[in-house]
Amino acid sequence: MSLSIGRFEARYAALPEGFFAALPPTPVAAPRLIAFNESLAAELGLSVGGLSAEALAGLFAGNDIPEGALPIAVAYAGHQFGSFVPQLGDGRAILLGEVRDQSGRLRDIAFKGSGRTPYSRGGDGRAALGPVLREYIVSEAMYALGVPTTRALAAVLTGERVLREQGPLPGAVFTRVAASHLRVGTFQFFAAREDQDALRALLMFAIERHEPTARDAENPALAFLKGAIERQAQLIARWMGLGFVHGVMNTDNMTISGETIDYGPCAFMEAYDPATVFSSIDQFGRYAYGRQAAIAQWNLARLAEALLPLIDHDEESAVKLASEAISGFAHLYHKAYDETFRAKLGLLKKEDDDADLVASVLLRMQQKQSDFTLTFRAFADAVEPNGDSALRHLMGDDDIADQLIERWRVRLLREEGSSSDLKARIKAANPKRIPRNHRIEEAIQAAVRSDDFEPFHQLHRALQHPYQDDPAFAAYETPAAPDERVRVTFCGT
Ligand code: AMP
Ligand code: MG
Repeated sequence: MSLSIGRFEARYAALPEGFFAALPPTPVAAPRLIAFNESLAAELGLSVGGLSAEALAGLFAGNDIPEGALPIAVAYAGHQFGSFVPQLGDGRAILLGEVRDQSGRLRDIAFKGSGRTPYSRGGDGRAALGPVLREYIVSEAMYALGVPTTRALAAVLTGERVLREQGPLPGAVFTRVAASHLRVGTFQFFAAREDQDALRALLMFAIERHEPTARDAENPALAFLKGAIERQAQLIARWMGLGFVHGVMNTDNMTISGETIDYGPCAFMEAYDPATVFSSIDQFGRYAYGRQAAIAQWNLARLAEALLPLIDHDEESAVKLASEAISGFAHLYHKAYDETFRAKLGLLKKEDDDADLVASVLLRMQQKQSDFTLTFRAFADAVEPNGDSALRHLMGDDDIADQLIERWRVRLLREEGSSSDLKARIKAANPKRIPRNHRIEEAIQAAVRSDDFEPFHQLHRALQHPYQDDPAFAAYETPAAPDERVRVTFCGT
């Protein structure tokens, strides 16, 4: 059956041979709709309003291909934990095509978990329910938190089991919407093959999509690289400001668009500690919270390497230009990081001592294992002379805590605005609710063990307006009790 739900374009599928393999998703036995993001569907201009849950399930399971879609699996390479793998690609994903959203932007619609492809290597091409729910919750929470991210359009049960280390698990298909699926690893794929024609075609495609002004720049490849660097610097600063740990920052999991992609063993930190790692496969802490900026810069250097022949025919000159651009990351990132953390303390003006104030607050939080989210949010109430009891408690309940709070208050006096303005400003920079890992785990367990999706839906609702006070969602605000704590998270496979 073919459904007409919108005007699909086949832009990526129009690129030369070697960029992808054309194939449909493998149909599944018994699709059942778990979640469908109506507001995102409206934003994309999809006409799915009249469809039943059953029809939506068939559609988002990949059993019924929308009219005009030309399904493909995309080729890419990547550095995984520092080692280069020349061929990865969509081993379990299928790109349906692009649609133009209501604001005129092209957006990719893709499935994850839709069967084997020529890039599957040893994998089964499928996704287990748990990781699909995790990606749904966390990507939509990131969107609500204001972070550039891929979005969740739908999640569907397949009615089939997938075999994982833990045993047989319910299978699911996730529908992802992205500004594009171009990754650092897509460029590496063609660079590794020394295929300059393909690299040039990819660059032109990427420029048209993400950096249109680079087309007329003196050096389009360099202008494009600089744009990607700027977007990543902004993105990582946003992650840091929320305590987000991506978990698998391999070059194939880093977009050119600047959107967060591939929510595998990701998690939000509770007690502040830059060494925080969750991923079960990250034994050496390569992708720890505090290393994310350095890793992003390393990944961008891999992008720069791939682009070298397009930056300048003369290799020496290309290396010089690319290195300068990569060095620029540190400045852009530190600026964005400082702004983010100043804003978290309500400081809009920039003063010399602010970075030290931020560092002192963070150091204290690390020493006292203060919950990152609750502590920063508590600064809002502490604007009021008698409102600092929660903050004081979170910061250790002693003279050092008092001195720090006093130092911050003295600094805050030099900011403009009434105390209620300042309070509102601090709240707008510090969410009340983040997707806490034990809550995600609880939602996954209820779904997997008891086919109960209510905790998942409730968690999703709790995270839709994360900056608003809402007593109805108080249970989602507290950190995990010691026996609830989730120490490791597993990859999306
Ligand atoms: P990820 O860790 O999800 O970013 O995936 C890394 C690579 O492994 C990508 O090329 C994926 O397409 C591939 N992959 C992950 N899981 C599977 C699976 N179950 N079947 C086939 N390929 C997979
Ligand atoms: Mg990936």
